[in-house]
Formats: sequence, structure tokens, C-alpha cells
Amino acid sequence: MADTASHTEVPAAHATDLIVIGGGPAGCAAARTAASVGMRSILVEPDRLCRSLHRIPALDNVLGGHTSGPALADVITAELADTELCRQELGRHVTELRAADDHVTVTLDTGTRLTAPHAVVATGVGPLQPGDVPWITAPGGLTLSPLWQADPDDAEGRTLLVLGGDRPIGTFLRAHPATGTRLLVAYPEADTYKIEEIRDDPRVMLLPVEHLTLYASEGGTVTADVRNRGGGRRTVTADAVHLSIGSAPTAPAGDLVRDADGYSPPDRQHPRIIVAGDLRSARYQRIMTALGSGSEAALRAYYAARELL
Ligand SMILES: Cc1cc2nc3c(=O)[nH]c(=O)nc-3n(C[C@H](O)[C@H](O)[C@H](O)COP(=O)(O)OP(=O)(O)OC[C@H]3O[C@@H](n4cnc5c(N)ncnc54)[C@H](O)[C@@H]3O)c2cc1C
Repeated sequence: MADTASHTEVPAAHATDLIVIGGGPAGCAAARTAASVGMRSILVEPDRLCRSLHRIPALDNVLGGHTSGPALADVITAELADTELCRQELGRHVTELRAADDHVTVTLDTGTRLTAPHAVVATGVGPLQPGDVPWITAPGGLTLSPLWQADPDDAEGRTLLVLGGDRPIGTFLRAHPATGTRLLVAYPEADTYKIEEIRDDPRVMLLPVEHLTLYASEGGTVTADVRNRGGGRRTVTADAVHLSIGSAPTAPAGDLVRDADGYSPPDRQHPRIIVAGDLRSARYQRIMTALGSGSEAALRAYYAARELL
């Protein structure tokens, strides 16, 4: 519900064809593709464009010769700045998305409401914390930083306990190929398929766990009691602890349909809401899939507006 200071910004017919929510690779690709077919868009992003890419020091799966996330983010940001048909609303986030028969209404944190024929929702995912997963018991309210935020110089020669086997561990190892940091990776059974890419790295020691209890660190070191899958128990210590337990979808309230895991499958949405990027599913979370699905989302809006779907 908007407060009294809010107002509705109703673009004149066809002044805004598309509202893009989220300025990651998927949202930027949607805005760029929309412009390429003459559609005007408004792109809403609370941070800088492609903020997630700044977390990826080394890339080896993006076409075009891109080998660093920040460098790719800079290229995309520059291209969007030159995209006249895209108006950027940076520093704002969407609090609510509503869909009606002939338009969508998007409410910003300022209370401003935007309307357009279609919205692309590309808000991605955010990091889980120990309290969000059942296989970890940790001191109440503990917030840990993800592994990708670990300072490689600080970590040199030390042992880091990594909670979870999510893919950013591979990113860390590829980004610092010569590091002497040892990673003690405690992971639940559900992560088994993800640790295949790090299994043979001599800097990694794998610790399959059923449950892990983490104790508050004293004197810089951390201690955890581990119950393994055979029922055995052991205590491990490390110089620091970081997270790699994965992410959860982040999406605005309103008419977006979510599945049991919180993701928003594109084929279950209102016809005026088009979901792109990581928000679609845990299974397709890659930069190139985000770019492709964002482009496709814009074209879907283009053909739908012309009743050509
Ligand atoms: C550490 C790490 C390493 C990775 N390494 C690789 C790799 O090597 N190769 C690869 O292909 N992929 C990698 N990925 C995955 C890749 O970053 C994602 O697949 C990609 O960024 C998804 O793009 P997206 O646009 O869907 O979402 P995001 O990039 O997450 O962008 C979503 C945007 O939406 C914004 N947003 C959120 N809520 C709102 C709201 N309410 N209103 C408005 N905006 C909102 C956010 O601020 C964010 O900028 C990695 C990810 C991480 C975390």
C-alpha cells in the first residue's frame, strides 16, 4: 500500500514499454535487447549495475574473451549508459509488483509507482546464512562472510573452514591458483555433486557432514563439532570460517508466483510478468544463461505487445 507521499507515474501510451527489475546481467540484457527493437525501458537497481559480477575475479565460461567479472561488468555498464531508450533508476528497489489485464504496476521504495505493459523480473539470488540451513547449528544471529570475500593475502598459509560445497569455492581456487591457503570444506549430502570440480585440488580437504555445530571463535580460531554421515563425530579447528552454502531467491512482493523453493518459474507467471536470470531456478545460474534469458524476456514482451505470441 502506497503512503500519502507516493504518486503514480503513468507514462503516456507507449512512453515506457517495459519495466526491468534488477540490473544484473539478465536485467541489463533485457534492457539492451528491448532497445534494439525500439522498446523504451526503465531499469530499477538498488546498487550499481552488475554488482554480482564484481565478486567474480576469474571467469572461464563466458564467450567473448571475458576473463574477469569486474571487467565484464564495466563493459556492460558502459553499454547501458549509451542505451538511450533505457532509463536507469539506480539506488532504488522495487517493493511490490502487481499485474492487471492490460498493464503492470511497480512500486519503488520511494513510494513512486511505475506502470508499463510488461515487467521483466531479474532480481537474482542472495546469500544464505548458517541459521537458514538445518544442517548447521551456530551461535544465534551469527552472520558470516562468503568465501569470495576472503582476503587472499590474509588467508595465505592458513586453513579456512568453508561451510557448504557451493560453486564459489571453485571460483576462489581459480582466482588464486598459487595460494597456499587450505580449505576444509564441510558439506551436506545435497552438495555432493557440486564438489566434483574441487575434489582433486590438493588445497582442499573434504568433510562430508550430516550436522555441524559451530562455536564462537576465540583468539581468531574457530572450532566445530562434526557428525559425519556414518554417525562418527570429530572436532575440527581452523584459522577462520567462511560460507559457501548457497543462495536464496530475492524477489519483490506482489503477484510473482514462487515455487516451494522460492524460485519463480517463468511458465507459471501472469502473462505480463516475465522472469529472467537466476530467479528462474537454482539450476541455470550462469552469466551466459542470465544474458540469454534476459534478451529472450525482452523479445517476449515485444511480441506479446504486438499480439504475435
Ligand atoms: C561468487 C560467485 C561466483 C560466480 N562465478 C560464476 C562464473 O564463474 N561463471 C558464471 O557463469 N556465473 C558465475 N556466477 C553466477 C552469476 O554471477 C549469476 O548467474 C548471474 O550474475 C545472474 O545474473 P542475474 O541478472 O540473474 O542476477 P544478479 O546478477 O544477481 O542480479 C540481480 C540484481 O537484482 C537486484 N535486485 C534484487 N532485488 C531487487 C529489487 N527488489 N528491486 C530491484 N532490483 C533488485 C540486485 O541488486 C542485483 O543487482 C557466480 C556467482 C557468485 C556469487
